[in-house]
Amino acid sequence: MKKLLSLTLSLLVVTATVAAQPKVIAHRGYWKTAGSAQNSIASYTKADAIGVFGSEMDVWFTGDNKLVVNHDRVYKGTKINMEKDKANLITSIVLPNGENIPTLDAYLKLAASKPNTRLILEMKSLSDLKREDLAAEKIVKALRKYKLLNNTDIICFSINACLAFRKLLPDGRIHYLNGDLPPKSIKKLGLTGIDYSHKVLRKHPEWIKAAHKLGLEVNVWTVNKEEDMRYFIDMGVDYITTDHPEQLQALLKK
Ligand code: MG
Repeated sequence: MKKLLSLTLSLLVVTATVAAQPKVIAHRGYWKTAGSAQNSIASYTKADAIGVFGSEMDVWFTGDNKLVVNHDRVYKGTKINMEKDKANLITSIVLPNGENIPTLDAYLKLAASKPNTRLILEMKSLSDLKREDLAAEKIVKALRKYKLLNNTDIICFSINACLAFRKLLPDGRIHYLNGDLPPKSIKKLGLTGIDYSHKVLRKHPEWIKAAHKLGLEVNVWTVNKEEDMRYFIDMGVDYITTDHPEQLQALLKK
């Protein structure tokens, strides 16, 4: 009986440990690997191929009201501005892996064909809040077109954008990125989680438990050092966003 009890207890401990493991999110796709580039179609395919939980990407609303996938406002080495220029000029940019900057439509088409990977969609902040509202509407429309609403988390630095998405998707998972608000404020705003930088969460480690107590989820970016990976695994965050997804996966297997 004692043996059985201890076996049951150790099983419970193992189950609890497994359940508490954070899920791996590839930051800007899996791009630190051959043939890939940040926010490219290949980066999503490669993230999916290694079995990450989710793959993150960045979306801009262009000067002619179209949606493209890229990180920086101005593409390095050019004067092309994601927010001001037209989509056909932006998508003429060739990424380091030989692909062109993808449209959101092309990206979502691919994501829809890979249902095992969750899409973590960041909408970049715009200088005009009304344009953020319009961009949010267009993003939701595109996600609906590809039946991706249930397999997508929305993340934004802009509170205005988070709230625009909240209105459009009352049950959607919308996480705030900017790191300046405690979990109780995020809860009050009706959002579903915090997705803060490792520096912010190192400064406010108490926010992790506080968020969980409020039923919020916790993601942390961009965790690239093994020491930081270990720290956030131990802290019990729900997701770790990293440029080194395979390294984190290996660490979690240990
Ligand atoms: Mg991003």
